[in-house]
Amino acid sequence: MWNRTPLALNRFGQLPIGAIVARGWLHEQLRLSADGLTGRLMEIWPDVGPDSGWLGGPGESWERGPYYTRGLLSLAYTLNDEALIRRVRPWIDWTLGSQRADGSFGPTDNDDWWARMPMLEALRWYHEATGDARVLPFMTGYFRYQLAQLPARPLEAWGRPRGGDNLASVLWLSNRCGEPFLLALADLLHGQTSDWIGELGGEGPPDEAFEFGHGVNRAMGFKEPALYFLRSADPRHLAALRRGWERLGAHHGQIQGMFSADEFLHGRGSTQGTELCAVVELLSSFATALTISGELWLADAIERIAYNALPAMLSADHRGHQYFALPNQVECTPGGRNFSVHHETDLLFGVAPGYGCCAANFHMAWPRLVNHLWLATRDGGLAALLFAPCEVSARVADGQTVSIREQTAYPFEETVRFTVRTRQPVAFPLSLRIPEWAAAWSVAVNGAPVPAERLPEDGRLRVVMRTWHDGDTLVLELPMRLRVSRWERGSIGVERGPLVYALRIGEAWRRVGGSEPFCDYEVHPTTPWNYGLLLDPHAPEQALRVERRAAASQPWEQDAAAVRLMAKAKRIPEWTVSNGMSGPIPEVGLAPPTPVEEVALIPYGCARLRISMFPLVR
Ligand SMILES: [Zn+2]
Repeated sequence: MWNRTPLALNRFGQLPIGAIVARGWLHEQLRLSADGLTGRLMEIWPDVGPDSGWLGGPGESWERGPYYTRGLLSLAYTLNDEALIRRVRPWIDWTLGSQRADGSFGPTDNDDWWARMPMLEALRWYHEATGDARVLPFMTGYFRYQLAQLPARPLEAWGRPRGGDNLASVLWLSNRCGEPFLLALADLLHGQTSDWIGELGGEGPPDEAFEFGHGVNRAMGFKEPALYFLRSADPRHLAALRRGWERLGAHHGQIQGMFSADEFLHGRGSTQGTELCAVVELLSSFATALTISGELWLADAIERIAYNALPAMLSADHRGHQYFALPNQVECTPGGRNFSVHHETDLLFGVAPGYGCCAANFHMAWPRLVNHLWLATRDGGLAALLFAPCEVSARVADGQTVSIREQTAYPFEETVRFTVRTRQPVAFPLSLRIPEWAAAWSVAVNGAPVPAERLPEDGRLRVVMRTWHDGDTLVLELPMRLRVSRWERGSIGVERGPLVYALRIGEAWRRVGGSEPFCDYEVHPTTPWNYGLLLDPHAPEQALRVERRAAASQPWEQDAAAVRLMAKAKRIPEWTVSNGMSGPIPEVGLAPPTPVEEVALIPYGCARLRISMFPLVR
C-alpha cells in the first residue's frame, strides 16, 4: 500500500481490490455489466472469443484480449462473483503459462510491448485479489527480459506514449520485491516513453501530433508524470499534471468532464467527439495520480467524468456502448461527421460500434471508481475522496479492522451518511473531501453538528479525529447550488453539484443490427431539441425549478434520475440539423419570436440524446 524506499511516498494508499463493496445504484452498474457486455462479450464478439490469441487460438492477438481480461477481472473481483471469476481465469492461466525461457510471454505472432501493458495491470489486480504465487516470478522474469531487450528494441508506435502503463507495473513489483534492477528498468522505460512531463508542463496549446494528440494516448499519458514522481521526487512532475489539464481544458475541454478527441484533439465545439476509451483511461489515470499526489482537483475531475461522460456512453442495460459521444448529440445515426478519424458507426449504441478498442476496454471503468472510493491515510485513517453508496472494510490505527457503510444516492443526493462498525472503540482519523463546487457544507457526528473550526483542514480535506464506537454515524451535507458554466460561442451549461444537466429529448431506439439481447441501435429524436434557455446566468435559481422524485435502481436512464430541473426555454427555428448534428450554436442574445415553454433538464449521464451547451435567448 505504501511505497518502499527509494521510491517517494504516495499520499494515499490504495486498498486491495474487494475491500470496497459497491451498494445501491453503483452496485447496480456492476450487476448490469455482469449480465451485459462485460460478462457476455466472449460469447458474442469473436475478437475476445475462444479463438483469441490470448487463449492460444488463431484469432486476435494484440490489445483486445489484454484489455478485456483487465476489465472482466476487475469486475469479477470487485463484485466477488464466482461465475465471472471462472470466466476470467482461463485468460490469466493461459497468459501465465505462455511465458518462455527468456521471460517473454503472450501470443508469439505479436511481440508489441504495448499489448502486454494492460495484461500486466490485470495480473497486478489478480495478484492483489488472490495472492497467486505464480504472478511475482512471472513479472520478474518478464521485466528482466525487458531490461535486456529494450535498449535494442525500444518502445515504439502505441508503446511510446503509453509507456506509463508499463512503468506502473514495474513500480508495483518493485514495492513487492525490491529488486534493484527494477529501478533501472523504470528509468529506462521513462526515458523511452514520450515526454509527458515536458508536454503537460509546457506552454501554449497542446501538441496535436500522433503521440500527444491522440486522445487515448493523452488520457493514458496523464498517469506517467505522477508515476515517475515516485522515482524523481521532483514536485515539478506533479505540477505538470495540473498545468497540462488546465491547458487541455482551455483548448479542448468539454462540459461532461472530458476533452474532445475524435480520435485526435479537436477543440471545444459542441459536436466534437470523445472516445469511450479516453473516458475510461482518463478516469483510471486520474485515480492513479490521486493516490500518489493527493491533489483533490483530481477527485473533482474523476467525479465529473464518472458521473457525466461515462454513463452517457453506455446504454442503460449495459448491452451497448458508443465509440464517440458529443456534448450536443441530437441523433445517433450512421455516417461521417467532422471527426478527425471516422468509422461509419461511431455514434451508434451497440456491441462494438466505431473501432473495436472501446468494446474490449470499457469494462474497468465502474470497478475502477469503486476501488478508489476510499483510500488509506498515512496516519492510520481512511479518506473518502469520492462519494457513492458503498461499504469499506479496512485496517486502521493499530491494525484493528473496521467497516464503514456509506449510504447515499450521491451524486443525485446532497447527504452522505457514514456508519462505523467496529468490535471495540478505536481512534482513527476519517478524512472527507469537500468538493470544489460545494460553497457550503456541514458535518454532524451522532446527530450533533461539528463546527467547521473543530475539523482540521488539509486543503479541501476535512479530518474528523475521534474515538469511534460501534454504530457511530457521521453525516456530511453537501448542498448543491445551481451553477452556470460558459462554453463556446457564448453558450452556457447548467450544473448542480457534480452533475451537468442536459435537455431531455424523446428517444426512439431503432434496431439496425445484432441479435437479441445484444443489438446495435440508432437513436432518433421524437421531440424538438433546438431550444435556447431563458435565464440569468448570475442567478439561475430564479428560472430553474428543482424537481425531486424517487430514483430507480438504475438511475442513468432518461426518466429514472432522482432529480430533474424545469427550465424556461424558447425554440430557435433557424437552429437545425446539419450533417447529422446540431448546427453551430446560435449567436448570443437572440430573441426568437417563439413562445416561452417549460422544458425538462435531466442529468447528462441519463441523456443519450441531449443538448448540454445551450444558447441563451431573450
Ligand atoms: Zn476505444
